[in-house]
Amino acid sequence: MKAAVFKKTGFMAVEEIPTPVPRANEVLVKIKYCGICGTDLHNYSFGITAPGRVLGHEWCGVITELGKGVKDFSMGDRVMLYKHEGGSSPRLRLNPRASYSSPSRRTGAYAEYIAASTSRIIRIPDEVSDKQAATLEPLVAAIHAVRLGQIKISDTVAFIGAGPIALLMIQRVRQAGARAVYVSEPAKERATKAAELGADQVFNPFEEDVIAEIVKLTGGKGPDIVYECAAAKNTLNQACQLVARNGRVTCLAVYQEPIILTPLDWYTMQPEIKFTTNGDSTPFDWEIGMEVMIKGQIDVETTISTIIPLHEIQETFQTLLDPSKNTMLRVLVKP
Ligand SMILES: [Zn+2]
Repeated sequence: MKAAVFKKTGFMAVEEIPTPVPRANEVLVKIKYCGICGTDLHNYSFGITAPGRVLGHEWCGVITELGKGVKDFSMGDRVMLYKHEGGSSPRLRLNPRASYSSPSRRTGAYAEYIAASTSRIIRIPDEVSDKQAATLEPLVAAIHAVRLGQIKISDTVAFIGAGPIALLMIQRVRQAGARAVYVSEPAKERATKAAELGADQVFNPFEEDVIAEIVKLTGGKGPDIVYECAAAKNTLNQACQLVARNGRVTCLAVYQEPIILTPLDWYTMQPEIKFTTNGDSTPFDWEIGMEVMIKGQIDVETTISTIIPLHEIQETFQTLLDPSKNTMLRVLVKP
């Protein structure tokens, strides 16, 4: 089968590799879509994975082969990755830079096929399209982060950065009863989409004084909750300067390099700062995510801007990692 094989930091090559053989209690799945996740970009650009590995985990597809002992799934079933209650390993304090690098891990879904344990998959409900299914994991991340921010009705909310996950969160905080939603985002495509999905005002941080503008709009108080979704060098510091006194800063951004934090700029605000990644979402968040998707409460497809064939994956990763060139929102790979 064809797969995008990680060769070295910043380089993947599409190659012919053996199609995996499903072991006992595994199924072979023909991949329909696999979303490009921020963690894949991190692993790729910082070499946090072993050469020879195939990345990609936000997948959905169709079962084409059953391993020994598989009872609950049939050939032709539409399935996707899913985090089940009790199905996850105990929380280990591992440094991801080390723990993701094991070459023994089986291949990921930037490939034509994946072998998946039946304990890690779910049949895709009829109401959910393939494209939506490949977007459940980021939706779960969005729902988890919104819950972590502990939003209350009529809170004001600001987002630093409007990437694909923030675009889902904007819809969710609207539903949660936000009084106003303000966004700081320099990329035109993302700014436009943020406004379309319910942001009251979107500011370009390179052209406007975002902090001054939003503080003014909130009557001098600052937003009750700030979500830091940008991962630029000074954006967490900005979030802390922006937030209301005793407000909450929830940081989804995974910085790849040291950042600037100057508490002197904001310590009198006494913000509560929480860090989250999708890694700490729970099976309950997954259950909510699926329910939200089945009911169509959040438009996930609108955040998918681009679908690429497997052979364009290397150049697409390069573009996604270059903010000056990237005009894409969520990208799905269709092997
Ligand atoms: Zn992911």
